[in-house]
Amino acid sequence: MTMTDPKPAVSTDVMALAGELGAERSRPGWSPFSFALNDEQREIQAWAHTFAADVMRPAAAEWDEREETPWPVIQEAAKIGLYGLDANVNLFVDPSGLLLPLVHEELFWGDAGIGMSLKGTGLASSAIFSNGTPEQWSQWMGRCYGTPDDVQVAAFCSSEPGAGSDVSAIRTRATYDEKTDEWVINGQKAWATNGGIADIHVVVATVDPDLGTKGQAAFVVPRTEVHGLEQGTKLRKHGLRASHTADVFFDNVRIPAANVLGGKEKLDARLAKAREAAASNAGRNASMATFEMTRHIVGAQAIGIARAAYEFALDYAKGREQFGRPIIDNQGIAFKLADMALEIDAARLLVWRAANMSAALMRGESPNYQHGEGSMAKLKAGEVAVKVTEEAIQILGGNGYTREYPVERMHRDAKIYTIFEGTSEIQRLVISRAISGMRIR
Ligand SMILES: Cc1cc2nc3c(=O)[nH]c(=O)nc-3n(C[C@H](O)[C@H](O)[C@H](O)COP(=O)(O)OP(=O)(O)OC[C@H]3O[C@@H](n4cnc5c(N)ncnc54)[C@H](O)[C@@H]3O)c2cc1C
Repeated sequence: MTMTDPKPAVSTDVMALAGELGAERSRPGWSPFSFALNDEQREIQAWAHTFAADVMRPAAAEWDEREETPWPVIQEAAKIGLYGLDANVNLFVDPSGLLLPLVHEELFWGDAGIGMSLKGTGLASSAIFSNGTPEQWSQWMGRCYGTPDDVQVAAFCSSEPGAGSDVSAIRTRATYDEKTDEWVINGQKAWATNGGIADIHVVVATVDPDLGTKGQAAFVVPRTEVHGLEQGTKLRKHGLRASHTADVFFDNVRIPAANVLGGKEKLDARLAKAREAAASNAGRNASMATFEMTRHIVGAQAIGIARAAYEFALDYAKGREQFGRPIIDNQGIAFKLADMALEIDAARLLVWRAANMSAALMRGESPNYQHGEGSMAKLKAGEVAVKVTEEAIQILGGNGYTREYPVERMHRDAKIYTIFEGTSEIQRLVISRAISGMRIR
């Protein structure tokens, strides 16, 4: 090659190689890997963002102070189709799995307390979806949300005063009454989101205490059709204060036999198998199946909070001047913001990976979903949200510590993400068991 040659001699080989690679890449069966959202995903993301920015954000401080369920906001979301069963189904059908985390991130960017009032129902409807029969889906899932003219919320009641991380300690008992063909439920549930105000309560109870989690089942309890369901004290919380949390008492609550998720026949068969100590996947306990499906979505909520705090802190750091220059002009502040951006992106990648794997699982494929990927996503996102919101307060200084600015609320809201749907310690337990194949305790 001389200096006058316009192209290097190897160029044709490179071109040929590129052509071969191109042909190989488009071979059927190879799935392209891309982080680019398609038009539909971008549109729905923008729609959720607009609602979060225009309706949720302006209302956030007020509902946090009131510590009440923001029914008018739920109604508004239902009217535009953002709250309801159809809205959720449409997000679920996205084969990439990304629509659900995308929308959750935007809504919780708007406000986490209101976000939980909009999305807490999803835990109960997911339990019905993952444990129920198609007949039960059509009977109960729509009812969880009500209609735009009569919006409802639903509650998923697993935790008890003595059974938080340890679901095998659940004492709420469901006994079958052969004479009336009914289940009779007795017990106390703790910290239930929407507990006592929900129309539909999905209740995890033990049918055979000797079988531990394998002796448990989930039951649909329609509050207005039963006697004996009472809400306990509504809890006053550190964060997520626009979301209702309460204990729920069940005192001889009678429900039809058909209200056990999956059906009584399947439950009887499962119990028989468990009694024979046969290893069976169907023996998974009902609440764990629900948590598995929803963990990365909870992670997306945490990312929404973290991103909101990060964006606020970034703007503030550019505008606030000390020592004659914007505070972001100091590496001490700029590097904090760099780390915040980095950690949020890292957490989101874990959430998107788990979302994609979970969608593949639901399609009946077998992705290599075996290293606690859902737990990794939830764990990382929850811890990032706590750290990022704390750093945001630090960047805002004294202002950050006051209720005049939103980052203290975001910090309070973020903390629950290391506690509910499996604490950070429990996520580490799940991951360490998955990577070791051992019963780490
Ligand atoms: C706002 C809010 C909303 C909630 N919503 C719902 C809901 O809708 N439905 C529902 O069923 N529940 C709900 N919960 C309950 C929540 O899921 C539990 O609080 C959570 O699972 C933790 O249980 P616990 O509080 O009993 O803590 P504990 O289990 O008592 O744990 C206390 C501490 O010990 C650690 N720990 C426990 N066991 C281990 C172990 N084996 N190894 C290492 N560390 C361990 C935990 O990580 C934690 O740090 C909600 C809670 C809150 C606060």
